[in-house]
Amino acid sequence: MSKEITIGVAIATMIFLALQGVNLLPFLLLGALSYLFYNLSGLKVLNKGFQGQVSPRAREITFADIGGQEKAKQEIIEALEFIKDSSAAEQLGIRPLKGILLAGPPGTGKTLLAKAAAAYTGASFIAAAGSEFVEMYAGVGAQRIRALFKQARELAKQHNRKNATIFIDEIDVLGGKRGQHSGHLEYDQTLNQLLVEMDGISPNDDVRILVIGATNRVDLLDEALLRPGRFDRIIQVELPDREGRLQILKIHTANKPLDPEVNLESIASQTFGFSGAHLESLANEAAILAFRAGEKTLKPGHFNEAIDKVMLGEKMDRQPSEKELKRVAVHEIGHALVSERIRPGSVSIVTIVPRGSALGYMREVPEDDSYLQTRRQLEERLQLLIAGAIAEELLFHSRSTGASSDFIEAARLAKKMVFAGMSDLGIVDPESLPRHLLHRAVARILQTQEALVRKELQDKVEIIRRVSKELLQEEKLAGERLRQLIAGEDKPLERVHLA
Ligand code: ATP
Repeated sequence: MSKEITIGVAIATMIFLALQGVNLLPFLLLGALSYLFYNLSGLKVLNKGFQGQVSPRAREITFADIGGQEKAKQEIIEALEFIKDSSAAEQLGIRPLKGILLAGPPGTGKTLLAKAAAAYTGASFIAAAGSEFVEMYAGVGAQRIRALFKQARELAKQHNRKNATIFIDEIDVLGGKRGQHSGHLEYDQTLNQLLVEMDGISPNDDVRILVIGATNRVDLLDEALLRPGRFDRIIQVELPDREGRLQILKIHTANKPLDPEVNLESIASQTFGFSGAHLESLANEAAILAFRAGEKTLKPGHFNEAIDKVMLGEKMDRQPSEKELKRVAVHEIGHALVSERIRPGSVSIVTIVPRGSALGYMREVPEDDSYLQTRRQLEERLQLLIAGAIAEELLFHSRSTGASSDFIEAARLAKKMVFAGMSDLGIVDPESLPRHLLHRAVARILQTQEALVRKELQDKVEIIRRVSKELLQEEKLAGERLRQLIAGEDKPLERVHLA
């Protein structure tokens, strides 16, 4: 509104001056120059100030809404006690906590933890992402940091709160090591301003600010940020373990009608490696599938399909040719046979329904969560990965590009074995191991396993033919059915020519 009034007054003044016979050209030039300067110098961006998300108090999220993450929750609560009971902390001369850094993979609940921390201390909550402070104009990021702290204080005052929590997601974007960016002056100024603001936090402030940063790359952060008195608490937020996954599933299915057959424990054990965000999406996808099927409750099948969807993506519309499908079926049965030999009962589903970038896939019933692997386990994993390509080779006398992602994973594991001292090179220093030696050691490991798999599957060519025929007809085989077919418990099928 004030903009319109200013323009109106300026036009009226110019008309008045023109009527008085004043030469307006210099004024017009000056006006045009100021306009250009305002738009190009960044002042305009600067005046916008900070535009993060604000909520007066994140009352809705509490630590009880966060599944798993027991250790992270406990560490945060311990740190927050000093804020809650600041007089006791002061008496003992404890330096006030200014910053907590949450480090961990995406979707593990860092934002939720920050919101719960704000609620726990009765603080107002304001959130921003590191990328919001990155501008090409010098000084704009620093100005936004100032605005963010100012806004946090004002917000707390407005709501009569003594504490304010500022959450900065992707803090590595603005807090990366100084002097490393090409336009580094701007990044450095922004980070310096954050340091200045954090240093300025004092226990006597009428609003006590706690900054919570989140990152999945602590190694990228400037050391100055991690110095005592800034982000001096680093809390690791890990992917949830099985118990954590179960709790998260319970939280996200609490508002959904579950069929009595649904076993959340079994879903938790099938979802090793899933983050909280994946599990939330899994519960949501299962509900969507139930809705599409016109069902009133979520059934085990909906969850099964949702797991595949979250793991591999949407089903593809593109239908592979008949010839391609035969090859995919043989490839997947190759994987499945080796999987069943290594761990009987391990196949949960084999399918040739394309999903995401996979033309077919075999899903395993995972073992217990494990964080260590033995040499034998790694070799067996390699055999399983190689088996798809070998099955293709035995039945079609050629391989296809369908095995490329299996080989990438196999090479990664073989490299892991070399670095863990499991190859014929013995214990090696990964830093100084020449590339050609690494390459040779990896190739030897893969060739040995390849020979073993070929020998195994040569004796099972008839089974591959038989089972892949059924897979072609059915498109999907449950683990139970697959095991029946392998054991020949099914009525014998006539011999088919797949090649
Ligand atoms: P990013 O690093 O990508 O910002 P993040 O670690 O901050 O991710 P959140 O934004 O907290 O993750 O989580 C995303 C969503 O995933 C949440 O809104 C919630 O639905 C679900 N979620 C993640 N972790 C948990 C958990 N531990 N308990 C319950 N829900 C969770």
